[in-house]
Amino acid sequence: MSATRIDKWNKVVAAIKEDVAGFEVLFKDESKFHRLLGWLSFWGWKREEPDGKRVYEYMQMTTTLGNKIWFPSEEYVKRYFPSETLQHEWVHMKDAQTFFGLLSFLPASINRILFSASYLLILPWPGFIRAYAEIRAYRRTLELTRAEARTEIRGKIVEYFTGPTYFYMWPFKSHVENLLQAPSPYKELMDEATQ
Ligand SMILES: [Zn+2]
Repeated sequence: MSATRIDKWNKVVAAIKEDVAGFEVLFKDESKFHRLLGWLSFWGWKREEPDGKRVYEYMQMTTTLGNKIWFPSEEYVKRYFPSETLQHEWVHMKDAQTFFGLLSFLPASINRILFSASYLLILPWPGFIRAYAEIRAYRRTLELTRAEARTEIRGKIVEYFTGPTYFYMWPFKSHVENLLQAPSPYKELMDEATQ
C-alpha cells in the first residue's frame, strides 16, 4: 500500500475526529452484533468470495451507526486504506447530526437515532429517506473519483439505487443520474479539512 494512501487515510480520520465527537473506526467481523444484523438485514443473502467462502453481503459493506464507522475488517482497511469511503460515511454522519439540517435544534444524539431508524424504513417503498442520504454521500464519492474512472463508477452507483443492492430504493435511472450531478453538501469544508 502506498504511503500516500495511508497518509490520506490518517488525515481524513483526524479531520472526522475533529468534527464528530466520539468518532471511531470499528470492524464488523469482530462484532457479534453486526453478525446478527447481517443475518437479519435484507442484505442477509450470501455472496461467494473468490476463495469459495460464502459471506453475508452486509458484512462486506461499510456502515455508519451513530458516530462509528464499521468497516468489514481490519484486514480490509489495511489492504485498501479507503479514505474515499471514510468521506462518504462522513457525509452520513454530518447529515445524521442535524437530520439533513432539518432538525438542527435537537441534540445530535437524538438526531442520530432518528437517522438510523429512518434507514430501516424500507416501507413505504421506495426508500426515499435512505435514497436521499445516499445521493448526498455518493456525490462525495464521485468528487473523489479520478476523472478517467468517473463514468464507470457513476454507472455502478446508479445500479445501487435502481437494483437489488439497496432493495431498489430509487429505481428511476435518469433521475438518479441528474441528482448525482450536484456538488456534495459539505464539499468546501471536507476539501479544506483533507487537503
Ligand atoms: Zn452510504
